[in-house]
Amino acid sequence: MIHLNGRFMPLEEATIPVLDRGFIFGDGVYEVIPVYSRRPFRLAEHLRRLQNSLDAISLKNPHTDAEWGALIEELIACNEGADQYLYLHITRGVAKRDHAFPKVVTPTVFMMSSPLLPPAAELKSSGVAAITTIDNRWLRCDIKSISLLPNVLLRQSAVEAGTMEAVLLREGFMTEGAASNIFVVQNGVVLAPPKNHLMLPGITYDLVLELAQAEGIPTQVGPVPEAALRSANELWLTSSTREVLPITVLDGQPVGKGQPGPLFKRMDALYQNYKATVMRQAD
Ligand code: PMP
Repeated sequence: MIHLNGRFMPLEEATIPVLDRGFIFGDGVYEVIPVYSRRPFRLAEHLRRLQNSLDAISLKNPHTDAEWGALIEELIACNEGADQYLYLHITRGVAKRDHAFPKVVTPTVFMMSSPLLPPAAELKSSGVAAITTIDNRWLRCDIKSISLLPNVLLRQSAVEAGTMEAVLLREGFMTEGAASNIFVVQNGVVLAPPKNHLMLPGITYDLVLELAQAEGIPTQVGPVPEAALRSANELWLTSSTREVLPITVLDGQPVGKGQPGPLFKRMDALYQNYKATVMRQAD
């Protein structure tokens, strides 16, 4: 079951007009929210980022947080599975094709749920491979825009190289992954690029930093030079659906010892423990 413009219906019944500005221009934003044990994870943070994305494209939020909360609850209820991931998609709506904003228009709101599987144990025990590529995206990567063609092409280049992710480099610095944030561990310090217009402020990124800081694991937020990436002891990839994964091969070379590192194992344990605690608290 999906939600489209105020109605819940089977996916097969959902249609949108071809003049929707999401279809024509990619004029919209989205969110992905994990659900564990039928409860949304870090909902307030996801709704705040959604608001920031909407503000950045001057699109009025069609719902209050309370309304989003109710819609999300209903979407979870009418889909099976304890763990789901919710996709929220808002476009500027349907109008005669013209780049400039239409004067009067109603946003299109689409929401769907998919099964959420935890990352395979094998990915955590062996790690994943990634390649580096030039970050050729625009300068507003902080907006969770539905215009994802650059990310699509970058991720595809990673897949064609037989790897899971493309780690992006812009002017000598690491920004993020094509669909994830990236952390570098060097000499026991977790390095993270700063949240600015060059990367998406990941909800998992914030959580990883929070958990590290609460545990007294040293962190350093600031520009991460390519050289730090190349000489990393550990590399981590984070996203709401993939949690925290170790990158153990970069451009065909082993990262550190080529095995998931000790700090990854600590962070993964902290992350799983946090998830379990949040789920218990909600009971
Ligand atoms: N950066 C990009 C480009 C992404 O697409 C994503 C989400 N897939 C992330 C970072 C991670 O964000 P989050 O932790 O909120 O899933």
